[in-house]
Amino acid sequence: MTPGRWLWQVYLVVGVSLVVLYYLAPVDARGFPLRVVLYCLISVSAAVAVWFGLIRHRPKPVLPWLLIGACQLVYALADTIFYFSHYVLLNTDYPSLADLFYLAHYPLAVAGIVLLLRNRTPGRGVAGLLDAGTLAVVAAMLSWLYVIGPQTRLGAPFMVEAVSVGYPVMDLALLTVALGLVLGPGSRPPAFFLFIGWTAAIMTADTIYVVQQLNGTFQTGNFLDAIWLAGNLALGASALHPTMRGLAEPAPVPDAPLSPLRIAGLSASALIAPAVLFAQWAQDAIRDVPVVAGTCALLFALTIARLAALVSDQRRLAITDALTGLHTRRFFEAQLPLEIARARRSGGSVAVLIADVDHFKMINDRYGHPAGDQVLIEIATRLRRTVRAGEVLARYGGEEFAIILPSATTETLPTIAERLRQTVSGQQIRLPGECWTEVTVSVGTAVYPTHGGDPDNLVSVADRALYAAKAAGRDRVVIGDERSPVRTEKTLEGLDYLHLVADEVDARLSDHEHSRAIARWVQVLAVESGMDEDTARGAALAGRLHDIGKIVLPRSVLTKPGPLTAAEWELVRGHPDHGYRMASVVPGQAAVAVIIRQHHERWDGTGYPDGLRGAEIRPEARLLAICDAWAAMLANRPYQRALSEEQARDRVRADRGSHFEPEIADLFLDLHAAGRIDPLGLLAPRSRVRSL
Ligand code: GH3
Ligand code: MG
Ligand code: MG
Repeated sequence: MTPGRWLWQVYLVVGVSLVVLYYLAPVDARGFPLRVVLYCLISVSAAVAVWFGLIRHRPKPVLPWLLIGACQLVYALADTIFYFSHYVLLNTDYPSLADLFYLAHYPLAVAGIVLLLRNRTPGRGVAGLLDAGTLAVVAAMLSWLYVIGPQTRLGAPFMVEAVSVGYPVMDLALLTVALGLVLGPGSRPPAFFLFIGWTAAIMTADTIYVVQQLNGTFQTGNFLDAIWLAGNLALGASALHPTMRGLAEPAPVPDAPLSPLRIAGLSASALIAPAVLFAQWAQDAIRDVPVVAGTCALLFALTIARLAALVSDQRRLAITDALTGLHTRRFFEAQLPLEIARARRSGGSVAVLIADVDHFKMINDRYGHPAGDQVLIEIATRLRRTVRAGEVLARYGGEEFAIILPSATTETLPTIAERLRQTVSGQQIRLPGECWTEVTVSVGTAVYPTHGGDPDNLVSVADRALYAAKAAGRDRVVIGDERSPVRTEKTLEGLDYLHLVADEVDARLSDHEHSRAIARWVQVLAVESGMDEDTARGAALAGRLHDIGKIVLPRSVLTKPGPLTAAEWELVRGHPDHGYRMASVVPGQAAVAVIIRQHHERWDGTGYPDGLRGAEIRPEARLLAICDAWAAMLANRPYQRALSEEQARDRVRADRGSHFEPEIADLFLDLHAAGRIDPLGLLAPRSRVRSL
C-alpha cells in the first residue's frame, strides 16, 4: 500500500487526539497557551493538508481546490489572530481584525464550490440547483426570523450589527452551494462526504454561535470549538483522500433523479413557511409577515420552475433516441403531417427518405451487439453531418433511419439520396480493437405530391422503394414506385463491378467470407511489415479481387468434392491470369493486376502460373499468398473440412520457407497471436442466393 492511501486516516486520528488534548487543557491562565497552540495548529494543519493534497493528487481542474486552499489559509489566519489577541493580548473587542478574515474566507469557499459544481454538472444541472434553491430559501427565511432579524433589532453599533448579520448571510451563501453539491448529480466518493462534512460543521457551529451570542450563553472554549475543529479536520482529510480528484469529475447523467425521498424532503421544507405563519398566528405573535409571504411566493415560483424543467426533460427524452441522439420515430411521425400540410399550402413538395443498413445482422453476429451499436452511432453521426437546417433526421427502427426533406423534388431527390448513401458507405467504420468494417445502406424515397398525398401513403411508397432497393442487390437508391433502381454513380462498372464479381466468387466457393477477410488481413500485414499507406491499400484491393478470375470456372469444377482431373486442374491454374486480365483493363490498376497474377506463386518457386521464386514475387503477393492460404484453411470447402486455428498455425509453420516467405510467416503468426487477424465470418445470405 502506498503511504497516500492511509495518510488521511493518520491525519484524522492525530487531529482528533489533538482535539481531545485541547479539551483536557485547563480553562485558565495555565491552560490557555496550550489551547491557543492546539487550536491554531489544527486549523493551520487543515490548510497545509489541502495544499499537500493539491500537489499530491493534482486535481483537474485545479482552480476549485486552489480557492479552497486559499480559503482555509485565510481561515487559519483568522483563528490565529483571534486566539492570540483573545488569550495573549486579552483583547475581546467585537468585531475585530479576526472577523474580517473569518468573513473573507466564505467567498473563497463559495467560489471554489461553485467551480466544483460547474465541473460536476456538464449538462444544465437545473433540477439540482432548483432543489438547492428551495431548501436555501427556507433556510434563509428561518435565518432571518431567528438569527439575522433579531441581530438587526438589537440596536447595536453599526459595525457590530454589520458583522453579526454578515456571518449568517455568508453561511446562507455557503449553504446554497453546498446543497447544490448534495442535491446535484455527480460521484460521491469518500472525499465528497468529508468535504460536505466540513461545510456542514462550519455552518452548524456558526449558527449556534450567533444564537448563543444573542441569548448571552456563549462561552469561549465551549463545545462549539469541537465542531469547528472537526470541520477543519474533515476538510484536510478530504483533500488528502485519494478520491479527492473525483470531486470535480463530470457526472455521467445530466441531473439527479427526482426520487420519492427528495419529493418528500422538498415538500416538507416548503411547508415550513406556511407552518411558521400559522404558529405565529396561533401564538398571537405575528411578525415578519413580508418575509414569510415573500418566501411563500419564491417557493411557489421555484416549484413551478422545477415542474417546467421536468416537463421539458420528459419531452426531450420522448423525442430523442437514446442510442444515437437522433429524433425518434414518434417525432418523425408527428412532423411529417405538418411538413406535408405546409407543402400543400405553399404548393411545394416534401420528400421522405428511408435508409436501412445492409446486412446489419452480420455486423452484430461477427463483432457483437455493442460493436453494432457503435456502428449505428457512427452512421447517425455521418447522416447528421449531411442533413441541413429544417430537415428532420430520425432513427426509424433498429437499423433504419428516416429523413424528411422539405422542398425536395423528384428532380433534386436522386442527387440528395445518393449523397446520403455515399456519406454512410464512403469510409470504413472503426470498431474497438483496431477492427474496421464497411457498411452500406439501401435507400427508398418518396415525394409529396408525386407519390402520395398523405403521410401513411408516402411512407409506404418509400418503404416499398426500400424493399425494391434491397431486392435489386442493396447499396443503392430507389425513388418512389419506379420498378428498377435509379442508375446512380454506383453503376456496375470498373472496380465496383469487380467487387461484385469477388462477392459472387466467394458465395460460390463456400459459406464463409473470403475476399473481404483477406483484404483486411493483407492490410494489417502490409502496414505491420512497413509498407506505406498507398501500397498497403493496393495490396488490400488485390486481396479483395484476387480470385475474380474464378468467375469463369464452371461451378462443377469450383465445388467438386473429389480430386480434379488434369484438364480441370489446368482450368483452375488459369484463374490468376484471368483475374490479372480483368483487373488490368481497369485504368490505374496495373499494379493490383500483377499482384493478383502472382498470388499463387510460392517462395520456393513451385507455385503458378510463372514459377517465380523469392524476391521475384512482388512483396504484396507474398503477403496475399499467406492470407489466402489462411482463409482457405479456416473455411469449409467441398473438398476439405475447416481446420482449427491451431492446426492452421501448424501448417503455416510447416510451410514457412517453402510456400511462404519466412519473415512474413513469422509476422503473420505473431499478429494472429496478438489478435490482429480477426476470425473468418460467415457470408451474408444475399451473396449465397444472388447470382450475377
Ligand atoms: P438487410 O440488408 O436485409 O436489411 O439485412 P439486415 O441484417 O440489416 O436486416 P434484419 O432486419 O434481418 O436485421 C436487422 C438487425 O439489426 C437485427 C437486429 O438484431 C439488429 N438491431 C436492431 N436494433 C439494434 C440496435 O439498437 N443495436 C444493435 N447492435 N443491433 C440492432
Ligand atoms: Mg432492417
Ligand atoms: Mg438492414
